[in-house]
Amino acid sequence: MKTINVDKAASKGLAMGKAFVVNKELLVPDTYSITNDDVASEIGKFEAAVEKAVSQLEIIAKDNEIFAAHLEMARDPFLYDGVTDKIKSQNRNVQLALEDTINELAAIFESMDDEYMKERSADVKDIGYRLMGILKGVNTSGFENINEEVILVAEDLSPSDTSSINLDYVLGFATELGGVTSHVSIIARNLELPALVGVKELMTTIKHGDYLILDSHSCKIIINPDEATINEYTELSKEYKARKEELQALSGLPATTLDNRTVKVYANVGNIEDVKRAVEKGIKGIGLFRTEFLYMENTHFPTEEEQFEVYKEAATLCPEEVIIRTLDIGGDKSLPYYEFDKEDNPFLGWRAIRISLDLEDVFKAQLRAILRASAFGKVKIMYPMIISMEELNKANSVLETCKKELTAEGIAYDKDINVGIMIETPASVLCVENFAKHVDFFSIGTNDLTQYVLAVDRGNKKIAKLYDSFHPAVIQSIKRVIDAGHAEGIEVGMCGEFAGDEDAALLLLGLGLDEFSMSASAVPTVKQIIRSTSYEKAKEYADKATSVYTINEVMNILKEAKENL
Ligand code: PEP
Ligand code: MG
Repeated sequence: MKTINVDKAASKGLAMGKAFVVNKELLVPDTYSITNDDVASEIGKFEAAVEKAVSQLEIIAKDNEIFAAHLEMARDPFLYDGVTDKIKSQNRNVQLALEDTINELAAIFESMDDEYMKERSADVKDIGYRLMGILKGVNTSGFENINEEVILVAEDLSPSDTSSINLDYVLGFATELGGVTSHVSIIARNLELPALVGVKELMTTIKHGDYLILDSHSCKIIINPDEATINEYTELSKEYKARKEELQALSGLPATTLDNRTVKVYANVGNIEDVKRAVEKGIKGIGLFRTEFLYMENTHFPTEEEQFEVYKEAATLCPEEVIIRTLDIGGDKSLPYYEFDKEDNPFLGWRAIRISLDLEDVFKAQLRAILRASAFGKVKIMYPMIISMEELNKANSVLETCKKELTAEGIAYDKDINVGIMIETPASVLCVENFAKHVDFFSIGTNDLTQYVLAVDRGNKKIAKLYDSFHPAVIQSIKRVIDAGHAEGIEVGMCGEFAGDEDAALLLLGLGLDEFSMSASAVPTVKQIIRSTSYEKAKEYADKATSVYTINEVMNILKEAKENL
């Protein structure tokens, strides 16, 4: 039995189960040499691996187009000829021959001008991983091999990785990299699965199949616990479950303070299933629909029609409103079918609204889909990463074109649709008084705002301690945004993870935040805090917390506030 302690939980909960270790390093080919006598047996190994891959893929390709493409690749004669030629003519062993061939094929696809053909290189690499895993007899990133309940253990999990996992079998996540606002953390919170990220020495300590207790309430992982510990945690798990059910009842109640100020407490979602789960819990609105997942879990840019169906369903389901954020790709989020240039600083690079404004057809398809959905419920549009009026004006001019087109086509939409921006860059904070005159609402994106204000990468574990939204600079920014919004009479919300942080709830309430949007799992706790205090009291604490200049002082003031609830 061994315990790893972690600083901060990415998503709270308790999971007990076997570790499924995702280890791509194991896929480095062995370098053994072969002679002419070995050629036939090496080719035989390759043929057997292809056969196995095909039988795995035939099952999973039925419901997933990405794997259907992999199935085609596995049977591709170019792949077969490439590998077998290298075994025959260069006496390369099967693993090296496979690696060389995959690299060659991927490079050919990557160099093509046609976007569709370029995107095939990711498929080639994936099929390469699968075949290498089979040849080496190791468990690879073949997430579809997960067919029992497991705790996923990985160095990191990219958004594209998580999109290929059958999450029904995942009890929790532990990753060596990533911070609490990385996408694996956000997914974990949306699904209410426990997660610990930035876990030092995770990959060298945990082996595939180890039995784990992942306790993100007390921020630890216990590896191969003894019986007494298992019994203790089995009891604890029952307690957590009971407490969660008790709190759950609060999800549908209004977030009204003792002195009658009501704020909106909404959910962040990434797909229609999240919307359904939130609405089932009684949550009445969506403060952030991260539409990028629709794009990432696809083989092509989703069409207007495909998007319309999703947004329309969300609009119909939500009793109050749904804020749909336009595509926020780039940074750490890529698309399997679109080749992004390599950038030195992707978070400062081609992402979010910058991409939408450059790829106007893609942007228009999305805006038209959102507008059409606005005929079916209260829908609002939100642009991410805005830094300038020029960007806002350009985005709005594309929106105007879409509106005109729909009017000419006789298609219904909400002519008074609200348009807002995310405030997540220092530029938007510094110009917030002016932005407030030109938009219908703000939503503060503290995940990015914190990294940009503090110059601290949100996913870098080495500096994770510096990433703190309670830093006075972040809090001052939030205050300025709320005050500027209110001065112009517009609503100010927050959809960064800070909105769901129970330690921040009183501060944000006291600063005057109108709408809190968070993972559905955080809603009951935040509602409980808001319902047990008065706005006047929260304001006093917020005033105090915004007049000090160390994180420690801020935390002490908020601790006192919470104790006096
Ligand atoms: C944010 O930056 O706070 C935000 C909500 O956007 P994302 O986490 O999707 O970048
Ligand atoms: Mg953001």
